[in-house]
Amino acid sequence: MIPRSLFARLVTVLLGLLTAIGVFYVALSITTTRLHIQEITQYLHRSLAADLAGYKPLIKENNVDKAALKNVFDMLMVVNPAIEVYLLDAEGRILGFSAAPEKIKRDRVALDPIRAFVQDGAKLPIRGDDPRNPTEQKIFSAAAISQGGRLQGYLYVVLGGEAYDSVAGMLETSWIMRLGGGVAIASLILIAAIGVLLFTWLTRRLRRLTVSVENFRLGGAKGADFPKLRQSDGRDEIDELTRTFAEMAGRIDDQVEALARAGAVRRELITNISHDLRTPLASLQGAIETLQMKEDSLSAEDRRHYLDLAHKHSQRLGRLITDLFELTTLESEDRQLHIEPFSLAELVQDVAQRFRAMADEKNLRLEVDIPLNSSPVQGDIGLIERVLANLTENAIKYTPAGGKVEIGVSGGNGRITARVSDTGVGIGADDLPHIFERTYRAAKDRGTGPDGAGLGLAIAKRIVELHDSTLQVESRPRHGTSFSFDLATAPTTGAD
Ligand code: ADP
Repeated sequence: MIPRSLFARLVTVLLGLLTAIGVFYVALSITTTRLHIQEITQYLHRSLAADLAGYKPLIKENNVDKAALKNVFDMLMVVNPAIEVYLLDAEGRILGFSAAPEKIKRDRVALDPIRAFVQDGAKLPIRGDDPRNPTEQKIFSAAAISQGGRLQGYLYVVLGGEAYDSVAGMLETSWIMRLGGGVAIASLILIAAIGVLLFTWLTRRLRRLTVSVENFRLGGAKGADFPKLRQSDGRDEIDELTRTFAEMAGRIDDQVEALARAGAVRRELITNISHDLRTPLASLQGAIETLQMKEDSLSAEDRRHYLDLAHKHSQRLGRLITDLFELTTLESEDRQLHIEPFSLAELVQDVAQRFRAMADEKNLRLEVDIPLNSSPVQGDIGLIERVLANLTENAIKYTPAGGKVEIGVSGGNGRITARVSDTGVGIGADDLPHIFERTYRAAKDRGTGPDGAGLGLAIAKRIVELHDSTLQVESRPRHGTSFSFDLATAPTTGAD
């Protein structure tokens, strides 16, 4: 089974690698040591066969000199019993040997290794057939026996050293091998321990980050407690990951909060809108129902009255819906303005003209105060007209008969200010901070005041903001109110 945690995987891979490397190097060093020992042994005994062959002639007139051979065997038994001597003919057949006959398992040995050995500069170790074992090969010393320039055969000396033939044998006989093996195993264990410690240290920060990310999943960025990074900390990949994660978590939290806030605002807006729509709708329904039920008993005058009422409320409903739609479009992020240069003074004149009849009807003086020469401003003329109209309509609505409403333009030097002032009821200090909120209506106007959706100022404020300006208000209850905003003048072209 593959372990799941990164730490366990790293440790498994490390231990696996170390074991593989350990096995490889132990096998390598045992093999090279064995070959080296064989090389040295064969090298040291290189001339042994030649010396023995030169000691006494072993073949006389094509026959083995048995007495001479026995003499050599006996001598060697004394010097080194591990050494075995064989006398071979020119084809490699064994003619004589120094061991008990039942031990000899071959009747001939291959000549190629022997020929290679007797050549000068042969690369040692060379192994030849072991007459005592049909499958084994051993190092040897060999010399050609010639008579009168004719090759008679070979003296083939198998060098001992069975102890070095197996790993167990080598370890048993050599304490240096044992020491080397022990040191190798100890150093592998040490490397493994250091590796495990290193991985523990490296993965600890990752584990902390994992815990933080899990906490974040469960309880948001506040409970995540991401590891704090100091300025002095090295900026490695884990630090980067931690920082990025903490930033991302903060941003996700902000977005979740913003979404929750937007949701609350939307719910409030829907509540307000449905409330606002319900009032004129109920009045409209009431008027229509009266007309339906009392159709026969109503005088022509009353019928007219209810029809007027129904008309008025349906108009209000229509306006409310238009205003809501407009405000929503203005508040959308990608609202595009059609900015162009235009004369604010002329626009003020036009708006005043539009409302003159309404002011006259309420018995108000509507005055326009514009300078003779005023620079054109930059803006969306349709939207600015909407602002001026909303402010003027409010001023007329909230000013009692006999009062005065004044629309004026002033200023220069880069910005031109538009102002709509009245001598009306004014706005109380409590209401003043809220009048720009959607659907807010001052307490005295709620239910009893002039018809309005409470969206006019919200729309005006938004439009002015879209022009990088602010809608200002000053008001004194029972004395009057003054709204103002300014716009940037249009850049003068070279031709002017
Ligand atoms: P409404 O449709 O109610 O007029 P507005 O957004 O235009 O909605 O205005 C919000 C509130 O601000 C009004 O209900 C009113 O109480 C107050 N207000 C606006 N303009 C004036 C003004 N010129 N004089 C006094 N009160 C005003």
